[in-house]
Amino acid sequence: MMRELNVSLIIELVRSAGSISRAELARQSQLSAPTVGTIVDHLLVRGILVEVAIAPSNGGRPPVLLSIDPTAGYVIGIKLRGDGLTTVVCDLEAQIVATREFPVSLVGDSDVAIQTIASEAREVLRDAKVPRSKVLGVGIGLSGVIDSSAGVCVSSHLLQWHNVELESKLRRLMRLPVWIDNDVNTLAVAEKWSGDARGARHFVTLSIGRGIGMGIVIDRSLYRGAFGSSGEFGHIIVEPGGPRCECGRLGCLEAIVGEDSMRRQVGERLGREVTRDELISLVKAGDRVAQDVVQSAGAKLGLSVANVVTLLNPELLIICGEGTELGPTFTDPIIRAVREQTFASLGLKVDVKVQGWGDEAWAVGAATLVLRESFSHPGSDTRSLAIWHRVGA
Ligand SMILES: [Zn+2]
Repeated sequence: MMRELNVSLIIELVRSAGSISRAELARQSQLSAPTVGTIVDHLLVRGILVEVAIAPSNGGRPPVLLSIDPTAGYVIGIKLRGDGLTTVVCDLEAQIVATREFPVSLVGDSDVAIQTIASEAREVLRDAKVPRSKVLGVGIGLSGVIDSSAGVCVSSHLLQWHNVELESKLRRLMRLPVWIDNDVNTLAVAEKWSGDARGARHFVTLSIGRGIGMGIVIDRSLYRGAFGSSGEFGHIIVEPGGPRCECGRLGCLEAIVGEDSMRRQVGERLGREVTRDELISLVKAGDRVAQDVVQSAGAKLGLSVANVVTLLNPELLIICGEGTELGPTFTDPIIRAVREQTFASLGLKVDVKVQGWGDEAWAVGAATLVLRESFSHPGSDTRSLAIWHRVGA
């Protein structure tokens, strides 16, 4: 067990450094040089680490640095939507090797989803030319209340699923370890693993679009709450007796500032139906009605976000999701509220980043669930096949 912990520590130090010398590994791990040497030799033989020579600045002998071989293992990530799924294969650096899109209605039918996930995973591995033996596991992100430790989708308004035992069914069918989580949480995990939040201790990801969600990271850990439903930010009530929300209650934030509500408001003022694509092009073309609706939705959303910032005091806020396609007309009022309606004036500054939109980013987030478990030492999760057990075994 001690040895496994040391191996785990060495792998994690190499991963976070990118490339590192044996001497630096010994210093950072506080292990003896011979112990580090033995572990490194073992990992080189297994193909998990590789030696890379870096050109020296002084013209002397090039120091040999160690890196993770990103092709030593692969992970599958899947993002479920109401109208289909995006599947990716990533290497150990979370770089995409192959992607697939499959349109199918998953609303109200989890059995279709389970069969489709299994077949898409098979196909994407074929596209990527990755053998099954090198796959560490499958990560799945979906909207809703997810009990990630039990692997159960407790409830999803979007998919209209209740108590679906997704993990156990898929594990039996695919014979691979499977992790599931709320899709906004998977994005937060990905940001922490290899994205903008790599060095951040306390941060939140705000996902905007049809749904409004939040991933909360406190002291480097994802905050899930008692039953896994933390971050259901779209369902805080901001207008008692207001418009009916998909969740059945009245006046939720999402029912007021979500994309469907913005489309409806613009449609009412223009006297016709407005599609999502039309809303985006109207805003970009400078249409006064569309800009007015989107700006005021941004300001209302921003006020709620500012309240969360006051409550949690994060160092970083990442705005992401399909709603970012509406551009600064939507995101600027959110950022302004965070600047003006919090203690920013007292020097409690929060860094704000807006990220571009893509279904692939969500699927990579889901894949990161597997990377995180694979790199952690055994015991953190009984399903975990730590990378040095799985790869080449
Ligand atoms: Zn609601």
